Amino acid sequence: MDFRLARATKLASYRTGRASRAEVCDAQPELLRNARACSRRTRRTCPICEHRHLVEVTYVFGPRLPKSGRCITSSGEVATLAARAGRHEAWEVEVCTECGWNHVIRTYPLTAAS
Ligand SMILES: [Zn+2]
Repeated sequence: MDFRLARATKLASYRTGRASRAEVCDAQPELLRNARACSRRTRRTCPICEHRHLVEVTYVFGPRLPKSGRCITSSGEVATLAARAGRHEAWEVEVCTECGWNHVIRTYPLTAAS
């Protein structure tokens, strides 16, 4: 899946009125909590409300992790999970804590070397 294209499509439908703000800014309470508690701040501006500093939340999915993924904050944690047996995948989501805009920006498999 091309996440950049999906993001552009979502923004276009908002700008042309096909999607409401509530539809594009639909971050769940848990995602917002993680966005405040365990995220990285970026220099990007929210495409919806122009709030500065979108944050990125990284979830890792894999064996013996919660179904909803584990929210991770440090590269050390990533390395620890990558070294475990089984396939682990990271999902990075950009979130605006002001308006609730959220979008997956990339996913990638964790490898022991990274
Ligand atoms: Zn926003």
